[in-house]
Amino acid sequence: MRTHDWGDDEEEQEDSPAPGGTHVRERALKEVRAIYRQADAAYAPFSCPASGECCQLSRTGRQPWLWLPEWELLTKGRPLPPPREDGGCPYLDTAGLRCTVYADRPFGCRTFFCERIRGPARQPAETVGTLLERLEWASQRREPSLRGPRPLLEWHAEALASARKTR
Ligand code: SF4
Repeated sequence: MRTHDWGDDEEEQEDSPAPGGTHVRERALKEVRAIYRQADAAYAPFSCPASGECCQLSRTGRQPWLWLPEWELLTKGRPLPPPREDGGCPYLDTAGLRCTVYADRPFGCRTFFCERIRGPARQPAETVGTLLERLEWASQRREPSLRGPRPLLEWHAEALASARKTR
């Protein structure tokens, strides 16, 4: 099964950019956006109360795990927010109720629903599995040395530490 679509092979042969270059990074972002659109379409028949409770990461003990291009999309053109004192996702608004990066929120945020989900009896697990494979592929192509996704708070803490060092 074909699980990715970066363009045709001819283009890849003519233009074999090294992993980590701007071109490769932009292509990965484009692919991630396409994957997100498909995830949103798969979940279009579902809804949730949008309480923001699942974004209280320390309280729930769960958090989204992001592949590198997902983190790059989340942080592209945005200042890094400080950690929240309540342990919630740093991308929550001040009140802790709404996501401030909704359009670019990670795959895990688009496909995780608690028991209060409303919609068809069955969630689109096969589609999610296929899209996850595509995400992995996009990330591997972007940076082959990174073998897996990482928790959002880990990405965030590392980026904050790195920003402090460069000050
Ligand atoms: S990125 Fe947005 S949706 Fe995802 S955990 Fe953070 S605030 Fe919630």
